Amino acid sequence: MTKHKPNGAASIQAERVARSIQKASKQVKRNRKPSGSRRRDWLNDLDKLDELDLPEAERVMPRGERERRQVVLSMALANLGEKANVDGEPAPEKAAGQQGIVVEVSSSLCRVDLDGRSVVCGLRGSLSSHDTGFTNVVAVGDHVIVSEDGSGRGVVDKVLPRHSALTRPDVFYGHLQQVIVANAGQLLIVAAWREPPIWLELIDRYLIAAERHHLAPIICVNKIDLAQDVQACQAEMQPYLDLGYRVIWTSALTGKGVRELHEALQGRTTVLAGVSGVGKSSLLAAVQPGLQLRTRTVSGHSHEGRHTTSQVTMLRLEAGTFVVDTPGIREFGLSGLERRELARFYPEVTAAASGCRFGDCSHTQEPSCAVAKAVEQGRISAARYHSYQKIYFSLSDRAT
Ligand code: GDP
Ligand code: ZN
Repeated sequence: MTKHKPNGAASIQAERVARSIQKASKQVKRNRKPSGSRRRDWLNDLDKLDELDLPEAERVMPRGERERRQVVLSMALANLGEKANVDGEPAPEKAAGQQGIVVEVSSSLCRVDLDGRSVVCGLRGSLSSHDTGFTNVVAVGDHVIVSEDGSGRGVVDKVLPRHSALTRPDVFYGHLQQVIVANAGQLLIVAAWREPPIWLELIDRYLIAAERHHLAPIICVNKIDLAQDVQACQAEMQPYLDLGYRVIWTSALTGKGVRELHEALQGRTTVLAGVSGVGKSSLLAAVQPGLQLRTRTVSGHSHEGRHTTSQVTMLRLEAGTFVVDTPGIREFGLSGLERRELARFYPEVTAAASGCRFGDCSHTQEPSCAVAKAVEQGRISAARYHSYQKIYFSLSDRAT
């Protein structure tokens, strides 16, 4: 790759970029611990902008360094309102790119939502997953810059830095991570009160998955119209309220709670979780009447979702509001979790554990277990303790 020596108008441009990079770097630094002199060297050397052009040198960078530089560079360019020029190519004309959000991905194409318009896009050849340390270049939820040439197809020129990434080990390269969903902020756990009956252990599994993947959980108990005794239903969920979780009671049939659910989703990207039949599609249709829900395949509705783990689709409810349906969350949510780590995801267990006789008490069968005692005394929910034990024995002794 040839290097560019800025001159004339280009050097003014380079100066602006340099200033912007310094500003962006400060923004990034504010959120990170300083680490090592190499980073400072790079920033002190901003007049040598073409260092960004040295892929060979970058290959030996410390882990995460290249990604950090890209974050700084992208932020700087975003601040300038310009299209990224990471490859050192002459900056294209302004307005060449539009920002959109990836709503579907296949092997070499993706579908991008550009302000409500859906455009099928290829990927610019220079985009490489090596830049990010993940095995896929784009994922559902990615914010991207797209250019269109009027042919009806677009090209993704750039993937903007991710705020968050829901990942799992790559199927073929187990030591690398695959991004399943980018930039999601919350997990909506949908359960039905009846038909199918509420399954608290699954709610707990999803709560653990949410915590592990840094998604804020919301529990939605649907089909409340089928509850003969609404108070009993609320009492069943009381332990979750006591722990500070948000619970929304809804009925897609009567419209109860739909407004609250709508408000909870607005302006966010939400991953949906819940077994088939609990009313996820009905709720989305109630939240956004007229929404074009994709008809899912028979296998997509299968109880275990075994054949559809990579099938991820994102729906745009309205501007800035997206929901992601990923059957995979159920499988990868707890993958690699060790038994001894489980208590960390049960705050009430952790709080009681200091009173156990053994420091390494598993709270499943040991004598003088303060957790078991708290359950007997009704200070810890018996249902939560039951799910703790079930999940505990389903986990491996050592992380795989
Ligand atoms: P999904 O598989 O989670 O998307 O569930 P669906 O939205 O397809 O709903 C499954 C079944 O439950 C359908 O027959 C719906 O009509 C019904 N259903 C959905 N929400 C409610 C609700 O709030 N109350 C009642 N009584 N039935 C509902
Ligand atoms: Zn114990």
